[in-house]
Amino acid sequence: MGERTNNKRRCSFCGRPESEVGLLITGMSGYICDNCAQQAHEIVQETMKGLGEEVNSLDLKELPKPVDIKNFLDQYVIGQDDAKRYLSVAVYNHYKRLLQKDGQDDVEIEKSNIIMVGSTGTGKTLLARTIAKLLKVPFTIVDATVLTEAGYVGEDIESLLTRLLQVADYNVAEAERGIVFIDEIDKIARKGDNPSITRDVSGEGVQQGLLKLLEGSVVNVPPQGGRKHPDQKMIPVNTKNILFICGGAFDGIERKIAQRLNTNVVGYGATKETLKIDRSNMMQYIAPQDLKSFGLIPEIIGRLPILTYLNPLDRDALRNILTEPKNSIIKQYIKLFEMDGVKLTFQPEVYEFIVDKAIEYKLGARGLRSIVETIMMDVMFEIPSLEVKKYELTLEYARQQMEKANISRLQHA
Ligand code: ADP
Repeated sequence: MGERTNNKRRCSFCGRPESEVGLLITGMSGYICDNCAQQAHEIVQETMKGLGEEVNSLDLKELPKPVDIKNFLDQYVIGQDDAKRYLSVAVYNHYKRLLQKDGQDDVEIEKSNIIMVGSTGTGKTLLARTIAKLLKVPFTIVDATVLTEAGYVGEDIESLLTRLLQVADYNVAEAERGIVFIDEIDKIARKGDNPSITRDVSGEGVQQGLLKLLEGSVVNVPPQGGRKHPDQKMIPVNTKNILFICGGAFDGIERKIAQRLNTNVVGYGATKETLKIDRSNMMQYIAPQDLKSFGLIPEIIGRLPILTYLNPLDRDALRNILTEPKNSIIKQYIKLFEMDGVKLTFQPEVYEFIVDKAIEYKLGARGLRSIVETIMMDVMFEIPSLEVKKYELTLEYARQQMEKANISRLQHA
């Protein structure tokens, strides 16, 4: 192809003159236009996909087994055994599915997306973050609250995959093996059980869009996220092998569970067993139909076949969260002091006091940190300038500091 026929610079691949293309890039002995460069990029991506296994190979023997994954989670997350077991198995099975070569097996393993239901502050995001530390595939946490239907203010559904592409360094083949944690999935629930006649911008339309992603299809992802606009180049991503883990608080779902259980109890099926309901933790009885009553469409529920729950955190759990995890709040403060050469200790009663306050002000696990912060503020201010080698925090001091503090500030923490 003549590069300078008629004195015009032309693309050496498609032959179009500079005037007809958006951008012409000069090489050693030729030119390439933006269009051909894009196509070349896609060809490379396609080819790399075939080589995917070689690019980042997983070896089942070396992968952590479900028990190993759970043991790892146990180091950071207190309790929530059910959710941990489900997650561990799901991640392990995800690897196994990735190891299957396309079309070579007659038993094709289908993916099993997960949904975790549990009140706010019980450890859903913490579980997701912790599992990310040992994953061998790209992983990202996204928030469903920003989503809206195409054409409305907010972000398009496809933008959920932008972050995944980013963590995979825009390697599409890698991203297509990744895991996405969608937080606050309950925020896209339809308001009310009846399909609305008016448009429900943040509800059903978004769920329909999300369904496409969960089912597995090729979607066009805006590389920089946000909303699509016409002159932005989209990256096609196949979601067939992407594992989706959804989490949500589903505020008030306990009532729906109770309603269902109560209706079940009346009638022929009623046995003594069904009557023994632990009312303090209704979440453990959650079933797919409760998600439907809450406002998720049946198609979405069908695409999230694994349903698990998180327990509300009781006194013991809060007490353990304070000191037991590998990077517990208390361990973090001890570390901070250690860096100043000070050995920090706590009177054991202080822990009980902190937990009492968290319960009293209904702050949950999230509040533990703000309470400790309040108690420690003055000491942290003074200690680095003092010539001390150790410091014991007493119950009396903790009480004083809490009384001094502005409680309303804590409650908004
Ligand atoms: P959720 O996503 O369920 O609303 P998070 O996972 O964000 O809650 O939890 C908030 C904070 O509370 C965490 O960062 C962690 O410090 C603490 N926390 C909550 N649940 C647990 C738990 N089960 N084990 C250890 N820490 C927890």
